[in-house]
Amino acid sequence: MNRRRERVVVVGAGLAGSLAALYLARQGHEVDIFERRPDPRSALAGPEGRSINLGLSARGMRALDGVGLLADVLKHSVPMRDRVVHSPDGGVRAQPYGVREHEILHSVLREELISLVVSAAEAEPGVRFHFDSLLTSLDRETGTVRVAPTAGGEASTVTADLVVGADGVFSTVRQQMQHGLRANYAQDFLPWGYKELTIPVGTDGQPRVRLEALHVWPGHEALMVAHPNRDGSLTCTLFMAHEGPVSFAALDTPAAVWDFFRRRFPDAEELMPDLVREITEHPVGHLVTVRTAPWRYADRVVLIGDAAHAVYPFYGQGMNSAFEDCVVLDECLTAHPDRAAALAAYEAARKPHTDVLADLSTANFEDLRDRVHRLGYSASAAADRLLARLLPQRWVPLYAMVAHTTIPYADALARANRQDRILRRAGAGLTLAAGLAATAAALRVGRRRRAARR
Ligand code: FAD
Repeated sequence: MNRRRERVVVVGAGLAGSLAALYLARQGHEVDIFERRPDPRSALAGPEGRSINLGLSARGMRALDGVGLLADVLKHSVPMRDRVVHSPDGGVRAQPYGVREHEILHSVLREELISLVVSAAEAEPGVRFHFDSLLTSLDRETGTVRVAPTAGGEASTVTADLVVGADGVFSTVRQQMQHGLRANYAQDFLPWGYKELTIPVGTDGQPRVRLEALHVWPGHEALMVAHPNRDGSLTCTLFMAHEGPVSFAALDTPAAVWDFFRRRFPDAEELMPDLVREITEHPVGHLVTVRTAPWRYADRVVLIGDAAHAVYPFYGQGMNSAFEDCVVLDECLTAHPDRAAALAAYEAARKPHTDVLADLSTANFEDLRDRVHRLGYSASAAADRLLARLLPQRWVPLYAMVAHTTIPYADALARANRQDRILRRAGAGLTLAAGLAATAAALRVGRRRRAARR
């Protein structure tokens, strides 16, 4: 791929597509990137009901660092040093994210991040962005795409050596690339959706809660997380069922909204003065997992980001893994002179791991919903962290491996399972030892009592 200057078309200038364009341009290629939405740097581009801010962690940071963007992005972010859990009884408890100083997350505004990546890619020789341009069809045999201006007007066609489908969870590139092939596709909608709400800066100009943290309100029927913003506000994401007695559909009057928040998130109510208006006006987003294969066609087409592997957002890894795709694709294109082999190597290197990420993201939803506020959960998380401190080279908690390292997801899970087995064996050993000690003590007491009676 890096032997001659080739023509690449990237479809979708979201997070994955914009970063991929930058990586491909650094390999010396001509890159045309088509995006149906307006330029994210223009006033016209709104967040389209998507999450407003995102948690950036090690994988995403490594990918941004690879093109020299990390320092700039971090300047635009707020560090999240720990997770602050708000209990239904109004109690608040901090849970550290990692064991080492640098093991933190960074909250960054989606549009600011995309704007930074787009500007960097645009400054690269050979990159051309085409906003307001919708891909309508793809001929996978020739690498020809048809693109129509969203404002109306003549559609045009472009033929490329390689087409990169970075057009998100409902990818048109994926549909057209896989059409008629023996392709697998599974799409799981969570019965829960999400809505963005705001904790504005206080009337005194200060943040209403501790800023440098991810705030979590766990709950069985609804849960909420809040990411900090640089202006001192926080953006909350409320997750709950679309339909049913406790659902977005049921929050249909101001009284229902207040009643719901007073019962489920008592301390949150006073933090969100605009609650009723935001609940009424903000759209409900869908949460989708996509597992699919193949991710590529011959040496012509390849998928990255959500187009290849959308996951529920509960591990905060969708963007991070999309960015990681860009790094691995870049490495495979460099390592394999034959592009078909490079695309095959990329899919083989990524798919087993993003499938595991999908499982982890579902499991983390269940943890946030059912377990995070339980004492047992805090105790086992604390034991995990203690062991990581005592045995830093040998013991790494699963969350730390996922968020703070670039250990591939399936390897991280396998290692965490091994650690769990050790912990369980040690626990069982301790329980057995404690049981034997208790029995021995009881026998000794019994003997003494019998001796005293004699
Ligand atoms: P997208 O961001 O969806 O970009 C796809 C682009 O393609 C869009 O700009 C779209 O307009 C364009 N497009 C689509 N079709 C066409 C077409 N036919 N022609 C031209 N252009 C097209 N991830 C994290 O890592 N950390 C988090 O904290 C986090 N929080 C999240 C919270 C929520 C509530 C949600 C829903 C997601 C969250 N994610 C998070 C996941 C993250 O948002 C996604 O994984 C990420 O946006 C995927 O990037 P992408 O570029 O693959 O897709």
